[in-house]
Amino acid sequence: MPEPTAADAIDAGRLTLTDFITLGPAAVESVRKLLTDPSSLPGDAIIAADASHLLAPIPRPAKNVFCVGRNYAEHIAEDNQSRDLSTEIPKYPQYFTKPPTSVIGPDADVRLDEQVTRRLDYEVELGVVIGALGRDIPAEQALDHVFGYTIINDVTARDLQRRHDQWFKGKALDTHCPIGPWIVHKSAVPDPQRLAISLAVNGEMRQNANTAEMIFSVAVLIDWLSRGLTLEPGDMIATGTPSGAGYAMDPRQFLKDGDVMTCRIEGIGSLENTVRDVSRTS
Ligand code: MN
Repeated sequence: MPEPTAADAIDAGRLTLTDFITLGPAAVESVRKLLTDPSSLPGDAIIAADASHLLAPIPRPAKNVFCVGRNYAEHIAEDNQSRDLSTEIPKYPQYFTKPPTSVIGPDADVRLDEQVTRRLDYEVELGVVIGALGRDIPAEQALDHVFGYTIINDVTARDLQRRHDQWFKGKALDTHCPIGPWIVHKSAVPDPQRLAISLAVNGEMRQNANTAEMIFSVAVLIDWLSRGLTLEPGDMIATGTPSGAGYAMDPRQFLKDGDVMTCRIEGIGSLENTVRDVSRTS
C-alpha cells in the first residue's frame, strides 16, 4: 500500500500537526501545492479565521518543552542587579523543561492561584519546533532539523523558582506555557537570529529586543541539547528571554488578575493571553 500523502490525511481529517511534521518535507510540499490552488480543496477544508478557535499548535506535546535559561546578556545583567549577584555569562547553555500539562494556546487564560504563587511573571521567547529526528546534530546542520518557529511565553512563578532553588517547579504550573499563535515554516523565516521580539502588558512595552542578541544561537542550542539526546519531530525548544522581566523592574511588577500579555515576534505574529486569578473562586 502506498504511503498516504499529507493531502490524503488532511482530507480524512485525522492528521495532528505532529503527524504532519513527522511526514517531512514531502508533506510540506504537497500542502504548498494545494494552497497554490485553494479552489481544488474540498469546501470544508478552509475555515475562516474568525470562525475558528486556535489551540496551541501542538496542544499536548509528547514530551516536555525544552527551555533555555539566561540566553540574553541584558537579562543576565538585570537578574544580577535585582538579586545583588554578579554571575558570569554561561559558557554552556542552561537547559530546563516545562511539562506538557503547562501548554495552552492563544487567548487561553493563564492561571494565577495566590495559594500557590504571588510572584507571577512573563518571558517572551522564540520557540523552535524540531522537524527531523536526530542525535548529535552539529550546529552546521542544526537548522536542517528545524520545522519552523513559534512564540512561547515562559510564564514563571518567581517565588517558587527561588524557594525550590531550581527552574523546574516555578516554571511548570498548569497553563504557564502559552504557545502560538501558529508555527511558521522555516522557509518563511530566513534568519532566526534576526527577529524583533517583544512583550507588552496591557499595552505597555516591557520586553523589546532582537534574537540577534542571543548568547547561544538556535543552531548552537540544538547542537548541545542533542548530544547523546534524540530530538524528535514536534519537540519544542524555548530559546530564552531578553531583559524586561517584571521581577527585575524597579519597583518590581508581578502579574495580576486581568493583565493581558501580548508577545510579538517579527515574521511570526502575536500571542496574547490574559491572567485569571482563580484563588478567590477555587
Ligand atoms: Mn525563560
